[in-house]
Amino acid sequence: MKKISLLGATGSIGIQTLDVIREHPEQFKLVSMSSGKNVELTRKIIGEFKPEFVSVQEKADAERLKTEFPGVKISHGLEGLEEAAVFAESDILVNAVLGSVGLRPTLEAIRAGKTIAIANKETLVTAGHIVMEAARNQNVPVLPVDSEHSAIFQALQGEHEKNIERLILTASGGSFRDRTRDELQGVTKADALNHPNWSMGAKITIDSATMMNKGLEVIEAHWLFGLPYDQISVLLHRESIIHSMVEFHDTSIIAQLGTPDMKVPIQYALTYPDRLPLVSGKRLNLAEIGKLHFQEMDFDRFRCLKFAYEAGQAGGTLPAVMNAANEAAVAAFLEDRITFLQIEDLIESAMDQHSIIDNPDLETIQEVDKETRSFVDSLL
Ligand code: NDP
Ligand code: MG
Repeated sequence: MKKISLLGATGSIGIQTLDVIREHPEQFKLVSMSSGKNVELTRKIIGEFKPEFVSVQEKADAERLKTEFPGVKISHGLEGLEEAAVFAESDILVNAVLGSVGLRPTLEAIRAGKTIAIANKETLVTAGHIVMEAARNQNVPVLPVDSEHSAIFQALQGEHEKNIERLILTASGGSFRDRTRDELQGVTKADALNHPNWSMGAKITIDSATMMNKGLEVIEAHWLFGLPYDQISVLLHRESIIHSMVEFHDTSIIAQLGTPDMKVPIQYALTYPDRLPLVSGKRLNLAEIGKLHFQEMDFDRFRCLKFAYEAGQAGGTLPAVMNAANEAAVAAFLEDRITFLQIEDLIESAMDQHSIIDNPDLETIQEVDKETRSFVDSLL
């Protein structure tokens, strides 16, 4: 029986993690969880899964839940998020919270010796060097949940790192894949939220439309697999059937395929190195699909991907700046305060005005994260 801590239980990944736990009650038990402001769903999850520890974002919500569930330990805020991550009974932390607030809880869980299943890519983008070093020191595995990284991780089983030529991350292209830059003028929030292949949270759906999601994933891959940026490439693949690939020096390419379903990588991170049947999963029928398409990435069309390579290669605090500017800009777009193309402009301005600090510690990263959000706010 694997005991699970789940951060972001009420989100897209969180709910699908609960689906996996529900399918295998003899294998998995939810012992602690966090959610944000969705108290109604939190209540339902507590009722069904009976976790011992729960944290919500707001104090008032925590107080209410305490009276409703007297047998459950309930906490709130950033402290509560960290408490949920290190809950003594748990074996593995599934981090599916949104944004760089996921960083501290991840580090605390690593220090407490928990295995990490990471969906929260912003954590690795902002502080990959700190997270991976802490994991190495504590001998704690960091297992990917992101579908591309899970695909690469699966393709690398039994392989030697020295034989890798390059990683090939596939990109669906997001909601605006077939539009030119001119056609992006005046696109609406509803258009941007309409992803062709995946149903995900709002922020990552916008990140997919700007291609920042793939940019964040390039940096995430750099940290998870320890390869330089010139060995990490991106290929447009509109069907999202090949989830990513590894090319080896002998020209062999190993790919992982499947219907687009996040429950597959979530479950693999929970069962690794074993596998379990996925009862609710749909099997891939390649004959039915018939054709798969591939295309080179256009860095002028998808400027955010270029920013991410620049930030990753420059290193230091620049990825944290790019990420914070993106989080702030996407939030502003979702509040109808800016246009779609202004997201890119705000990220570019934030990166341009920043003087990079090399090898930053956690405090420096958090300071830079805060400063960047204020800078973006000042431009709105
Ligand atoms: P959602 O927006 O659907 O869910 C986010 C979760 O985090 C919710 O439970 C939300 O709570 C909670 N949350 C948000 N802000 C805070 C905060 N400040 N404090 C505490 N809790 C908070 O996001 P997704 O599930 O789509 O994504 C989660 C992470 O996984 C992201 O990093 C994303 O990039 C990554 N990811 C997602 C994929 C997907 O298919 N969705 C695929 C690969 C990676 P509430 O709703 O209760 O307010
Ligand atoms: Mg992904």
